[in-house]
Amino acid sequence: MAAPWEDVLRDTGAIREAAAVAVDAALLEGVLMRTEGEPNASDVVNYAPFTLLPSSVPSALFEQAYEVQQDFNLLVDAISQNKEFLEHTLASTIKVDDFTARLFRIHMQVLEEGLAQSVFLGINRSDYMFDCGVDGTPALKQIEINTIAASFGGLTSRTAAVHRRVLKVLGKSKEASCLLHNNPAKGLALGIAKAWELYGSPSAVVMFLVEEVQRNIFDQRCVENELWNRDIRVIRRRFRDVFENASLDDAKRLYMDGQEVAVVYYREGYMPKNYDQQNWEARLLLERSRAVKCPDIATQLAGTKKVQQELSQPGVLERLLPSQPEAVARIRATFAGLYSLDMGEEGDKIAATAIADPDRFVLKPQREGGGNNLYGEELRQVLEKIRDSPERTSYILMDKIKPQPAMNYLLRAHSPLQMSKCISELGIFGVYVRQGKKVVMNKAAGHLLRTKAVDHVDGGVAAGVAVLDTPYVV
Ligand code: ADP
Ligand code: MG
Repeated sequence: MAAPWEDVLRDTGAIREAAAVAVDAALLEGVLMRTEGEPNASDVVNYAPFTLLPSSVPSALFEQAYEVQQDFNLLVDAISQNKEFLEHTLASTIKVDDFTARLFRIHMQVLEEGLAQSVFLGINRSDYMFDCGVDGTPALKQIEINTIAASFGGLTSRTAAVHRRVLKVLGKSKEASCLLHNNPAKGLALGIAKAWELYGSPSAVVMFLVEEVQRNIFDQRCVENELWNRDIRVIRRRFRDVFENASLDDAKRLYMDGQEVAVVYYREGYMPKNYDQQNWEARLLLERSRAVKCPDIATQLAGTKKVQQELSQPGVLERLLPSQPEAVARIRATFAGLYSLDMGEEGDKIAATAIADPDRFVLKPQREGGGNNLYGEELRQVLEKIRDSPERTSYILMDKIKPQPAMNYLLRAHSPLQMSKCISELGIFGVYVRQGKKVVMNKAAGHLLRTKAVDHVDGGVAAGVAVLDTPYVV
C-alpha cells in the first residue's frame, strides 16, 4: 500500500528537517520515557521511540479490530469465571512450566477460600498484524491478547499530534487532518474509576502496582492523571512495599500504609523475574483481598498462550460464549493457525512439520513482555531437542503472520536517521467492569500502533524493538 508521502521519503533534506521537528514535538507532547541509565528518576528523560511517519492501515481491518473488541472482552471475562476450562486447558502446561503453575496455585487457593472480590475490572489489549494473503489481500490476524499490564495507552494518546505536525512540515496538511483522535488512557481510567466507584468506599485509593525499574512511568502517569482529575487518589507501590506494609482486615479489605485500597492496577507481575518468594506472598495477599484487581489472577491466566491456542480448537468458543454465534464468528475470523504441542500423535505431527519448515511458524512459551518467542533456525533447534519430552507442552506453535512491509524512519535517541523496511502491529484496548454476574461496562477504549523493522522477528516497545506509530486509515 503506497502512502501519500512516498514522494518525500527519499528527500533527505526534508526528512532531516521533519525529524528534528518530530523529536521536539514528541518532547512537547509528552511522548516520554526515562533513560536506560537513570530508569528511576525523571531528572533526565528522553522521547519514547516512534516512527517519523504514520503507517497506512486498511480501514476495513481497522474497523474489524474495533468491532470484535467487545466480544473479546466478554470472552476473557467468561474464561476467567470458568474454573473447569482453565483447569483443563492448563493441565499439561502447569506440569512443566513453574511460573504458570504458581499463578495457577494462587488461583485455586483463592477459589477454595471463596472470592472476597465482587467487582471485576478487565483492561486488555488485543494485538493484530495484517497477514498478506497469496493474492495480496491483507487479513486481520490476532497475535495475542494481553490481559495484564497492557501498556502504551498513555503515550499513544500523544503520538497523533506529533505525526500531524510532521505531515504538515512535509506539506501534507490534508493527510494530517485525517489522523484520528485516540485517547486510550482516558478509557482505561474510566474503567478504573467505575470499579473504584462500585467498590463503594469514597476514601479508598487506587494502587498502581509498579515495577522496580520504572522507565515507562509517563505512560502510567497519563492514566493516573485522568484519575486525579476525577478526584480519585492514586498511590504507586511495588510488590516489595506490599509485602512489608500491606494487610487485610477481617472483611479482607486491603490496607496499604493504613489506607484502604479499592483497586489494584497491575503494571507488573507478568514475568518470572518479577517474583521472589516475598513477592509471591504479596501477590497472594492481594488476590485474597476484597480489592478489585485489574486483572484478577484468573484473568491473567486467561491471557496465556496455551489458552489462546485452546480457543482455536473446534467448539471451544461456542461453549464459552453459548448462544452468541455472531460474536464467535467475529472472534474466530481473527485467529491464525494455532497448534498444541501436548504429548500425542497430533503434537508429534505438528512438531515434525515445524522442524521441517520452521519459517512457517512461531514457537511460543507461556511468557509475556517480548523477546521470548523462537523463530527460524532457533525454533528448529529447540523443537528438535524437546520434541520427545513433555517439556514441549510448555510451548505452543503458531502460524507466522507475514505482513506487507512499508518504508519508514524509526526515531530513537542516539541512533542515526535511516530508512527501514517496516511492519506494524495494531492493538485495540478493551475495558470492562462486572459487578457480581452483571457486566456494567464493556468498551473498546482506543488503539495502539507499533512498528518495527522487518529484520526483528520479535516485538515490543519496552523490549526495544518496536516503536510507537499512528495509523493512517485508508
Ligand atoms: P509477548 O507476550 O512476549 O508480547 P507476542 O505473542 O505478542 O508475545 O509476540 C511478541 C512479538 O513477536 C509480537 O509483537 C510480534 O512482533 C511477533 N510475533 C508473535 N507472534 C507472531 C506471529 N504469529 N507471526 C509473526 N510475528 C509474531
Ligand atoms: Mg505481545
